[in-house]
Amino acid sequence: MQYLEGRKYVVQGIFLLVALIFLTRLFFMQVLDGTYKLAADKNTLQRLVQIPYRGLIYDRKNQLLVQNTPVYDLLVVPREVKQLDSARFCELLQIPLEDLRASLLAAKKYSRIKPSPIVQNLTTPDLAAILDKLGDFSGFRIQARMARAYRTENLAHALGYVGAITPAFLEKPKYAKYQPGENVGISGLEAYYESTLMGRRGVQYKMVNVRGIEKGKFRGGEFDTLSVAGQDLHLSIDAELQAYGEKLLAGRRGSIVAIDPRTGEILAFVSAPHYDPNLLTGKGSGNRYMALLNNPDRPLFDRPLMATYPPGSVFKLVNELVALQLHVVTPGTGFECNQKLVHCTHRHEYPANVSLAIKNSCNPYFYQVLRAAVVRGQSPNKFEDARLGLGQWQKMVKSFGLGEKLGVDMSQEKRGLIPSPDFYDKLRGYHHWNFKTVYSLSIGQGEIGITGLQMANVLATIANRGWYYTPHFVRGIGAGGPLPQYRERHYTAVDTTLFKYIIPGMEMVVDGNGGTGNLASLSQYGITMAGKTGTVQNPHGYDHATFAAFAPVNDPKIAIAVFIENSGFGGTSAAPAAGLMIEKYLRGKVAPSRKRWEDWVTYGDFTKHLHSM
Ligand SMILES: [Zn+2]
Repeated sequence: MQYLEGRKYVVQGIFLLVALIFLTRLFFMQVLDGTYKLAADKNTLQRLVQIPYRGLIYDRKNQLLVQNTPVYDLLVVPREVKQLDSARFCELLQIPLEDLRASLLAAKKYSRIKPSPIVQNLTTPDLAAILDKLGDFSGFRIQARMARAYRTENLAHALGYVGAITPAFLEKPKYAKYQPGENVGISGLEAYYESTLMGRRGVQYKMVNVRGIEKGKFRGGEFDTLSVAGQDLHLSIDAELQAYGEKLLAGRRGSIVAIDPRTGEILAFVSAPHYDPNLLTGKGSGNRYMALLNNPDRPLFDRPLMATYPPGSVFKLVNELVALQLHVVTPGTGFECNQKLVHCTHRHEYPANVSLAIKNSCNPYFYQVLRAAVVRGQSPNKFEDARLGLGQWQKMVKSFGLGEKLGVDMSQEKRGLIPSPDFYDKLRGYHHWNFKTVYSLSIGQGEIGITGLQMANVLATIANRGWYYTPHFVRGIGAGGPLPQYRERHYTAVDTTLFKYIIPGMEMVVDGNGGTGNLASLSQYGITMAGKTGTVQNPHGYDHATFAAFAPVNDPKIAIAVFIENSGFGGTSAAPAAGLMIEKYLRGKVAPSRKRWEDWVTYGDFTKHLHSM
């Protein structure tokens, strides 16, 4: 049912292909990748490669995001150029004479008999304007190609882009069939799903005489093959939510990742600052790419996958679950807010149980939770005891998909770091460190790094009470489902029965009186939410703000993690951003009375509110 709407575009696709074949016949428009003289006669054997129609990309509501559009390159075969009227030719093409001379020189250097580009990426109207007159100039021909065209200004980091294959790609066995000048997915989903989107090339062998006139198929066409069009990708991304998230974080640095916990489908993948994917296609894309690359805000940097931050207080949830599994604490355990151990965020009621500790994000409480989990008297030697305890802690934490690549369908994912005993042995020396060395881990600081995607996945795992599907972007390939690895549940090392104990505290964070995440609350719409704020110490400037949540609590449909760099306290900036995203997704709109929070997230001066809330 959901793919029915898409059929319209498939039909359009076929029309384009037919149009392309039609033009091909008229103007010799196939990729000519090899011309070989046959010794026996004056005929040459031409190998013509037919590039298949590249698969399209849709969002989860079947909105077309990426399509193909024909563009044309004007090529020259230097040997065939006779008495060129350069001035008239340049006037026709509206190019400077020096450009034409440089292109002709380069073409001659490359080959006198093989075609080289003179002007690339002409649009159909461009072509129509010159076609009549082009016949007056010998040695020139038009070659059609399909270029990517975007019907969205968003999602550039996930989509990636398509460009001319680079020499580095050509050396890889995976790209053995590609020819220089051919297009290939360079990054993002375009690269990860290259073979799916690409389809299969067709090849035809033709005999051509010295004057370029076709003399029939080679051996009756027995070696010819037909091209097979690429398959479409149906993304789990909600394009409307994606656009909303990119707008919210315009002018900020940071990330938002939203996942449907029931499926592992990624709903939104915001990397701020963002850029328009149209910048990296068509005429002048090379220059625009360089401008993005040199931009000090690093818009090309894929933050949700590649930026690793200490998770801050959100990580207290994972430590609590590990300690519960080890039976070193119970949900009813109380610990003093003892500031001699570590400073606390603010003055608050006695954390008599885990819910109050989470609600108040009490640092000393979670210091004592991790100490109980690590220091367990497994060895009379306190250094060895810490080694053993930390080793077990690390294994359990990694079972949440941390410290390893999750396996998302994108190649540039970072692992992050969950430090092992070996890590501290190298840093401090064997038996030269103990719990006091590693206590920062209790509050998600220190030598720990996780990505925005990993944090969203932790929240999806808590939403599911103990398991996750590997997050992924593609929910359907052609008419089929996702790749098989995205249909396998992953359980953590913590019993599924224990997750329920951390959720009441997370609800109090959002909706409890004085909870640190009150600005995310959607209780006025009857939407329950469980969340956790975090503030990430940043030695280079203002702290980073985080907030992670899922909703509704007893029927989770969305799990989300927000990082906003240099924005101080998570409750002030990241929490309202997450609240707006959840509202947009679950209600399909943001209430007029809450629009002011959009301006606050996008333009507010967070530095004035670093310690409010
Ligand atoms: Zn405290």
